[in-house]
Amino acid sequence: MRTRPAPPFTPIMAHSASSPRLVHALSLDVEDYVHAHALEPWIGPARWADWPSRVEESTARVLDLVEACGGRLTCFVLGWVAERHPGLVREIARRGHEIATHGYAHRLVYTQTPAQFRSDVERSRDLLQDLTGQPVVGYRAPSFSITRQCWWALEVLLDLGFRYDSSIVPITGHDRYGVRHAPAVPWRYGSLWEIPISTIAIGRLRLPLGGGAYFRFFPYWLTRWGLSQLERRGRPAVLYFHPWEFDPDQPRVPAAFLSRLRHYTNLHQTAGRFTRLCQEFAFAPFSQVFAALFAGEEDAYLSGDSGRTTLSAPRG
Ligand SMILES: [Zn+2]
Repeated sequence: MRTRPAPPFTPIMAHSASSPRLVHALSLDVEDYVHAHALEPWIGPARWADWPSRVEESTARVLDLVEACGGRLTCFVLGWVAERHPGLVREIARRGHEIATHGYAHRLVYTQTPAQFRSDVERSRDLLQDLTGQPVVGYRAPSFSITRQCWWALEVLLDLGFRYDSSIVPITGHDRYGVRHAPAVPWRYGSLWEIPISTIAIGRLRLPLGGGAYFRFFPYWLTRWGLSQLERRGRPAVLYFHPWEFDPDQPRVPAAFLSRLRHYTNLHQTAGRFTRLCQEFAFAPFSQVFAALFAGEEDAYLSGDSGRTTLSAPRG
């Protein structure tokens, strides 16, 4: 199966009093701390409900920080959370943020059959659409788990009518995700747009830029530098966070040392760094930043440099 080349695209610009600012795509995977895969061996799905939920408070904290700077974001909401916190979903939508889906049960895509995946995504999407009365057209897999092992997932998303997916990370070396040689800019699989999170090349390494543990582990200046590089080339960044990363007081799960390191490092710094990020850059939901792409108006973007790519979908 071949994917058509992704066209170059021109970003939307936000006009501030002084000068126009490029607007970047910001996202939040709305799940509770118990859903993090790093903790799964110690707190699996059967025990999720035994732990106190903190997703409402921590999500509200993130929305407050973004809105204080005039930004909005896309929330990829987990169906399991939406079912137990319907008011949270309505509140996110009411505050002007985009609702997309993170699937229902937070299972890695490559551990499911196509039928199980379809059912998981559909259940979550229908739940979110019923709660908000708005179409849900975006999907992100738990732990970015659409890889070469499960390329069929894009077919399922196409068939379900999704406009975009944000699950394929163009890196290697991560234990749960990554597709080597996947484009680092938006590309199309049939009518489905793939919006990869932004990456940064450091020597021979390519690392996700400004999201999740990377944002907490690396110094802030690195994220800032990476976004500035993208701005200079006229490309919006695509960033991701989790509500639990803004919650240093969450209950501690007695996991192994490396899992605790990955999950708990620098939680107390996230809000401060994130505030700075929102003050220095402009953010909007995917549906706005990539509106013209999703509307099929990519021809309007055929000018300037923006990383033309001719990737074909990996086989098998
Ligand atoms: Zn997740």
